[in-house]
Amino acid sequence: MSGRAGTRAIRASVAGAVQGVGFREATRRRAVALGVQGWVRNAEDGTVALHAEGSPLALDELIAFLHEGPRGASVAQVDVREVAVEGHEQFAMRGVSAGSFLVREHAARARHFDLRLEVAGAMRSWAVPKGPSLDPSVKRLAVEVADHELDAGTLEGASGGGAAIVWDRGPYEQGGRVPWPQALERGHAVFVLHGQKLRGGFALQRTRPGPKAQWLLLKRRDQHARDGYDVVAEQPASVLSGCTLEQVLAGADPN
Ligand code: MN
Repeated sequence: MSGRAGTRAIRASVAGAVQGVGFREATRRRAVALGVQGWVRNAEDGTVALHAEGSPLALDELIAFLHEGPRGASVAQVDVREVAVEGHEQFAMRGVSAGSFLVREHAARARHFDLRLEVAGAMRSWAVPKGPSLDPSVKRLAVEVADHELDAGTLEGASGGGAAIVWDRGPYEQGGRVPWPQALERGHAVFVLHGQKLRGGFALQRTRPGPKAQWLLLKRRDQHARDGYDVVAEQPASVLSGCTLEQVLAGADPN
């Protein structure tokens, strides 16, 4: 979709002894040195897959590198095909954790879910009134709130007439064509969650900037998407204690 003159794009698959030998990082370094954008990841079939876009000369040099690989790799075969330019603005290593994510269910003045993503040393935070969904057709309002500390202390339990549970958590990967945190600053961020309930690709799309910016949280269509499934209703329990928010509230001191 980009019209950068002279830019071409390829998808490549590298077979052989290519995983666990630093292939992705070496490819990323070479791509950055060549001014090539895109991504590299380990595929489930043991190959290394990449998307690369840049000048034809730079792509030829990167393809030549793929045939060699880093020290320790043994390349058996490199398959390359031309694809459309997608407009990447970074060369990303996929499948690498960017830190942790956390989703709390929180009963305060109004019930809501807290979504927190570790970004640049803080937890970027959104209040999601209806919580996340695994159904790609469902868009959930997410209101940006102040960052939290990485170690926010007690995350679960009753306090001050309210209560919270850790509804899901795990590592996450940053995705998309734009590096983070610029992706968030521009209002469109794609990421992959590796939680117990939430898995696969998600996106945050800002619809109203400013203080308490409004975003939409949505599930991207992939093998973890579940049409018509209400994960919040079906899986209400804390991933820490197994308790639901109702149980925590029922056991809470009313004072
Ligand atoms: Mn909250």
